[in-house]
Amino acid sequence: MKHGARAFQKALLQWFAVEARDLPWRRTKDPYRVYLAEIMLQQTRVDQGLVYYERFLKRFPTLESLAQADEQAVLKQWEGLGYYTRARNMRRAAALVMEQYGGRFPDSPELLRMLPGIGKYTAGAIASIAFNKAVPIVDGNVKRVLARLDAMDTAIDLPATEKLLWQRAAALTPAKTPGDFNQAMMELGARVCVPRSPLCENCPVQRYCDAFSKNLQDSLPLRTPKKAVPHHEMAVAAIRNGEEYLIGRRPSEGFLGGLWEFPGGRIQPGENITDALVRECCETLGVTVRPGGLVAVVKHAYTHFRVTLNVYRCSIVNGTPEPRTHTELQWVAPDSFSNFAFPRGNHKFLHLL
Ligand code: SF4
Repeated sequence: MKHGARAFQKALLQWFAVEARDLPWRRTKDPYRVYLAEIMLQQTRVDQGLVYYERFLKRFPTLESLAQADEQAVLKQWEGLGYYTRARNMRRAAALVMEQYGGRFPDSPELLRMLPGIGKYTAGAIASIAFNKAVPIVDGNVKRVLARLDAMDTAIDLPATEKLLWQRAAALTPAKTPGDFNQAMMELGARVCVPRSPLCENCPVQRYCDAFSKNLQDSLPLRTPKKAVPHHEMAVAAIRNGEEYLIGRRPSEGFLGGLWEFPGGRIQPGENITDALVRECCETLGVTVRPGGLVAVVKHAYTHFRVTLNVYRCSIVNGTPEPRTHTELQWVAPDSFSNFAFPRGNHKFLHLL
C-alpha cells in the first residue's frame, strides 16, 4: 500500500461516516446483538440476514432468553439460513456466558474465542465493535481489499497468505474507533472493492492502492484453482399413512444436525431409485416400503456438494418404523410441517405433499 496507514484510515473512515448503510446492527454496541449479526451474516446476504436478524431478536430479545431456549425453537428461527451448527453453538455460548460471566460477554478476544462457535473473526468483531478493542476482523471482503491494496502476488486462500492478511489487518487497525474501521473495510469490500469489476473510480482509498496503480485490480486477488463440486443422487421417501407423512430428526451433531427430514439416502452406484428407496427405508427405519408415484425431482447446492433429491410417495407394507439413524420419528400432517425445522432442500417439495 502506498502512503501511510494514518492517511489511509482517515480516508476510509470519512467515507464510511457518509456512506455506511443504515443497518440495525450498526446502531448498537450491545455485544449480544453484534454477536448475533456477525454469526448470522456469515455465508448470508445482508438483505436476507436483515429479515432473520429482526425476527430472531423478536423471539430471543436477550442473551438470557436465548440461553434458556429449547434447541428446536432456536433452529426454527434459523430455518433456511443453513449452517445450523451456528444456531446450536449460539445457544450453547449464550448459556455459557450466563453461567460463567454472569450474562456479560467477556471483552477480550482470547476469552471470546473459548466460547463455542466463536472463531478469530467473530471474536474480533465483538471485541472491536462492542468493546472498542483494537483487534482486526478479516472476512472474505477484507481479504480481497487487503490483497488489492498491497497487490499481493500469492493466493489468498493459502494458510500462509491468510496469516499474512491477519497481520496486515492488525497493523492497519487504529486504536481509536477500531469497530468503525473494521466495518468500513468490510463495507468497502461489499460495495466498492467488489469481486468482479471493482468500482475504483468511486473508491475512497484509490490513491493508496497498489493494484489500482499497477492496473491489476481485475486480476487480483489470486486464488488456487477450485476442485469440481461432487454431486449425489438421493432417494427420498414420502411415506404416507392416512393424512400424515413420516419424518425423522437428524442427530444434533454433524451436518444439518437437529433438523427434520424425510427418510432416504444416497443412491448407490448401479442401484435404481426404487431399490434405493426400499434399501434405505429398511436400513434406517426397519420397514419394507412399496414406492409409488414421483412427487418431485429437486436440485439443491450445499457449499461442498450438490444433491438431486428424487422424492417418491411410498407406503409401508411390512414393519413398524423405528429410528435407527434418526433420534426420533414423527407422523405429521402437511399443515403442521411449518412447526418443524427442515433443511432447505426439503422445502422445495413440501408444498407438493
Ligand atoms: S482502488 Fe479499486 S482495487 Fe483498490 S481498493 Fe479501491 S476499489 Fe479496490
